[in-house]
Amino acid sequence: MSRKVIPVAAAARGLALPPTDGVRAGEPVADTLGRRVRDLRISVTDRCNFRCRYCMPREVFGEDYPFLPHGEILTFEEIVRVARLFRGHGVAKIRLTGGEPLLRRGVEDLVAMLSRELPGADLTLTTNGSALRAKAAALRAAGLHRITVSLDSLDDATFRAMNDADFPVARVLEAIDAAAAEGLAPVKVNMVVKRGVNDHEVVAMAGRFRGTGHILRFIEYMDVGATNGWRMDDVVPSAEIVRRVNEAFACEPVNPNHFGEVAKRWRYKDGQGEFGIISSVTQAFCATCNRARLSTDGMLYTCLFADQGHDLRALLRGGASDEDLASALAAVWRHRGDRYSEIRTAETARARKVEMSYIGG
Ligand code: SAM
Ligand code: SF4
Ligand code: SF4
Repeated sequence: MSRKVIPVAAAARGLALPPTDGVRAGEPVADTLGRRVRDLRISVTDRCNFRCRYCMPREVFGEDYPFLPHGEILTFEEIVRVARLFRGHGVAKIRLTGGEPLLRRGVEDLVAMLSRELPGADLTLTTNGSALRAKAAALRAAGLHRITVSLDSLDDATFRAMNDADFPVARVLEAIDAAAAEGLAPVKVNMVVKRGVNDHEVVAMAGRFRGTGHILRFIEYMDVGATNGWRMDDVVPSAEIVRRVNEAFACEPVNPNHFGEVAKRWRYKDGQGEFGIISSVTQAFCATCNRARLSTDGMLYTCLFADQGHDLRALLRGGASDEDLASALAAVWRHRGDRYSEIRTAETARARKVEMSYIGG
């Protein structure tokens, strides 16, 4: 078996690329735990107009925070090239995220390019909704299939305090309706539940989105990054969330749509639709985790809780051929053994990790 190490012209950052022994470009690839890559999440900007306390606390992400300069972020052509080569390895779903992806100028052009170059791939985007009303039609026309909008509360004071940008609930609700009207349906609505902050809103949120066709997803508050001061006591376990919803609206579990689906599905027994729960803290799903992440500046991460990634930008800008690049992607995935949430402890929760706004949520 030949061992090939890809030459890198520019100075590489992050982890050394593993040798590409035995990995062929364009073939499906599995990691050390047998998990095949299926989802690629792309952070298109590390910037955001919100300062959600659990993600980008204002004390850290202040006026002088060193966001990435323009020359360091991947161009649309570079992003599409990586995505196209990942598609060859079996990626079926692409999610654009950030930071706030709708702040990246011309993001709809990127959607159009991905839609053209990756026919058949599922194209989605996660947004805080602040710019969605204005962009929904263009995103749909560009080929976006579905959208996820984050909304943590229906209570204006609670929501404004959580986004720490004084952004009102009503504008996000309008954006959700605008997206659905454009055909980006069903809209998924993400609610991060934090104890003592917005957990009193769980039943109200369920009640608001039941029967609308939108799918609410409760997310356990996670120890991503190193700035949000996460404590286990702040997590509301998914079992408790389901219990509270069930007391108000009887519900029952539903089978997953596909293998590796992150959200556990529940449906209302009275036929008013379904909701999901993402319990990465109390019921880790590492065993089926099939997600790769591309940061704004072209680092490849194989876990949301990583502290280092592999530098693809150096390859992209160093003259690597498609075959070299595809082999590098495969090699990184094949050497992957991540299972952070399965082995989380108080100590790992305090460890250095990349921020979610940079790696892409
Ligand atoms: N800005 C966009 C948004 O908020 O939808 C996309 C990026 S954001 C990082 C992606 C998702 O991650 C959002 O739904 C957000 O609520 C979630 N998120 C951020 N920090 C989190 C945390 N500490 N625990 C759980 N979910 C978190
Ligand atoms: Fe911005 Fe999304 Fe993070 Fe909130 S969760 S600060 S909207 S990137
Ligand atoms: Fe995947 Fe890492 Fe999350 Fe486990 S902790 S599910 S490996 S991203």
